[in-house]
Order: sequence, then structure tokens, then C-alpha cells
Amino acid sequence: MSRLMVSVSGIRGEIGSTLSPETIHDFIAAFSVFLKGGKVVVGRDSRVSGPFVTHIVKGVLMANGCDVIDIGIVPTPTVQMEVEHYKAAGGIAITASHNPLQWNGLKFIDSDGRFLSPARAEEVFKLRDNKRSNPVEWDKLGKEVQDDQAVMRHIDAVLNISYLDIEGIRKENFKVAVDTVNGAGGEIIPALLEKLGCEVIAINKEMTGEFAHTPEPLPENLKQLGDVIRKTGADFGFAVDPDVDRCAIVDNKGNPIGEEYTLPIAVKLVFSKKMGRIVINMSTSRASEDIAKYYNCMFIRSKVGEINVADKMKEIDAVIGGEGNGGVILPEVHTGRDAPVAVALTLQAMLEFGGTMEELKNSLPQYSMVKNKVNIEGIDPDLILEKLAEKYKNEEIDLLDGVKIDFEQSWVHLRKSNTEPILRIISEAPNEKEANELADRFGREVQEISRK
Ligand code: MG
Repeated sequence: MSRLMVSVSGIRGEIGSTLSPETIHDFIAAFSVFLKGGKVVVGRDSRVSGPFVTHIVKGVLMANGCDVIDIGIVPTPTVQMEVEHYKAAGGIAITASHNPLQWNGLKFIDSDGRFLSPARAEEVFKLRDNKRSNPVEWDKLGKEVQDDQAVMRHIDAVLNISYLDIEGIRKENFKVAVDTVNGAGGEIIPALLEKLGCEVIAINKEMTGEFAHTPEPLPENLKQLGDVIRKTGADFGFAVDPDVDRCAIVDNKGNPIGEEYTLPIAVKLVFSKKMGRIVINMSTSRASEDIAKYYNCMFIRSKVGEINVADKMKEIDAVIGGEGNGGVILPEVHTGRDAPVAVALTLQAMLEFGGTMEELKNSLPQYSMVKNKVNIEGIDPDLILEKLAEKYKNEEIDLLDGVKIDFEQSWVHLRKSNTEPILRIISEAPNEKEANELADRFGREVQEISRK
């Protein structure tokens, strides 16, 4: 049986085992105590288990004196934005993001529309460990309202982005293929594209939660979208994950350009309009860093995880940021990863570029990334990382989140996993061969250190 995954980004578990009604109860009761009442926005992705989880979440919130605003099946970023819209005490996104369909989970949102910071999440988890709840009497029970306009408000906010030339984009009449993998993006992504004058060819748009393929928008899962583009002659395609915070792009020939390239396209567009600061996480492609340097913009890397990027962005007042997994954060809309934002910025970038998607990708700094993992069962990951840090102390090394070593043309980042006995090794170099060699080399070094 898999374990319940508890991390700074919330909890995830499998239905019928780790994500039990009792577990959901305990976390939501703790969150209610943490919030001390008030309004809570609740939204979910399209998973088959969504109704069951939602009923428990809403019931426990109301039993603990919180009012519920149920916004239905929506992207996670929509829940975040609605917390701000309603000036709510907090929010719950019921989703397991890109995990397969037997999973579900809870993401906890703070009153500013961002996820709980690591310290505040820790408070909730402690309340849960102590089985805290705050049941109220019959006349203090929370009330529930439903609101089906959240997605429309989200679309309006995206259309209000100051960098968009809506009339210009509309005139291009882009032909766009879309794969929302039967997740929560089936309404918002086609509707946004239509408002921008695109001819939309949508596949897997029914929000049934019965994912047509493995839902993570990685190249190997985008073959169907590639075929649709080749068959219909679409200009390009977008794929999003089930809770619509990640966006990957497929080019005019049906080839995925790699999710690492979604952010650089947005970054280049934004910096060409407005100089400012950028935050990306430690494992994100150097392409965005190169673009920031080209525009003389201040550039900061944060720990991995949306909240770490978002917190740093707030701190330094960044104009854009994100993660290499297709997560674009534009604070002008809200400080969270948002696939509709990525879609709109990509259309504007295509309008201004004037060539094909393949050409746009090739106009950006070219890198290849490799993500490996090494099994370190029974060995303390921190010890391995310490020894590596010592060995490479004379290189350009960063210990903010594991060990990252920057070389002239490449970098490697080693991080421990909080849920499995593995070390992740992410490497990037100007081509695939060198990236593989670098990741393999560090894989061998980890194994050598482990044997000592
Ligand atoms: Mg997601």
C-alpha cells in the first residue's frame, strides 16, 4: 500500500486506502481550527472520487463553523484566485494534480490566495497530529453557497493581462489543438482560446476524471495531441495537467517542445515589455536565466515547490516567475502557477514572433535536461549530500535545496525525496548527450559515496 504523501504542497493519497474519510476529516478539522472560522472556498478537479471527498470537506468545514463557497470543478489556480475574490479566510483545492486517477488530495490555500507557507502548513499538520477540531453548536454551523462563475472571472482576469493585444491575437485566427486530459481544464482552456479568436480543436475535454492517458503533460504522454496537430494542420497545441497549473506546448509538426520551454517563452515576452525581477526554482532550465541576463534583469533561484517560488516573488516584487514543469506565475493575475496565463502569454509571443512554434522554440536558448533518480535505501541522504558538497566546495555550489553545482555550460542538482528512499539528479547541458553524461557521472558518484 502506498503511503499518504504529506508535503508542503498538501496531502495526496490513494482512494480506498491512504486517503480515507477519517484522514480527510482530520486534516480539514485541523485546517478549520487553524483558520478560526470564516469563509472557505472549495473547488475540485474532475476526479471520479471528487464528489465523495468534496462532501466530507464541506461537511467538516461547516461542522467546525466555517462557511463554504463551493465553486465546483475548476483549476487549482481558480480556487486560489477566488480566495482573493471573496476575501476568504482560506481555500481547499481537492486534487492530486498530475497523479493517476486512483489518487486524490488536498491543497491548502491561505487568505492571500497563495498556498500555505511551509511554517503555516506545519502548524496545520501539528493540529492534525493532535486530532484537534472545533465542533460548533447547531446555531453556529457554517453555511454553504454555490458559485458557478469562478471560471468566467478567471478568464476575465487573464484577458486583462497588460501584455496582451487581444485584437491582434484575434486577427491571427490561430488554429490550436488542446488536450485537457479529462481534467478540470476542459472548460476554461477552450473558452479562453475562443475568446482570443482561435479555432479550437479540443480532445479529452469532457471533465470526467477518467483520464484518456497518463495525465502528466510530459512528451511521452502527448502523442495523441501530436497526431491531432499533424492531421488537422493546427498551428500548435497546448496540454495541461488535471488541475490546470502546468502547461506544455506541442509545435506545428506535432512535436512536444518540452515543458521546460513554456516558461522561457513567457519570460521573454514579459521582459521585452517590462524590465523587472524574476524567480525560478533551482531545477528550472537556464534558458530563463539567460533571457533575464540578456535583459539585465535581476534573477533569483528559490527552493523547488510553488510556494517557495511564490514567497520569494512576493519578497522581491518579481514581475514573473515559475517552475520548469510548465508552471508560469504572473503576479499581475495572481501569485500562483496558472496554465491559462501560460496559454495567453504564448499566444501573444506567437503574435509578436510571426513564425512557427518550432521556430519560436529554436529562437530561445537551447538546452537539454535529464532527470534521473538513484536508489539509496538504508543510507542517510543528507550524509551523501554533505560529502558531495565537500568534494565540490571549490565549484560554484548552492546548498539552498540539496546540492546544486553550476558549471560553465551546464549544471547538476541533487535533491532528496521526502517520500521515497531516492536521490533525484537533475542535469542540464547544451545537448542531450552531455546532459546524460553529467547525470550518469553524478549517479556513479552517489553510488560510490553510498558504498563507503
Ligand atoms: Mg498540477
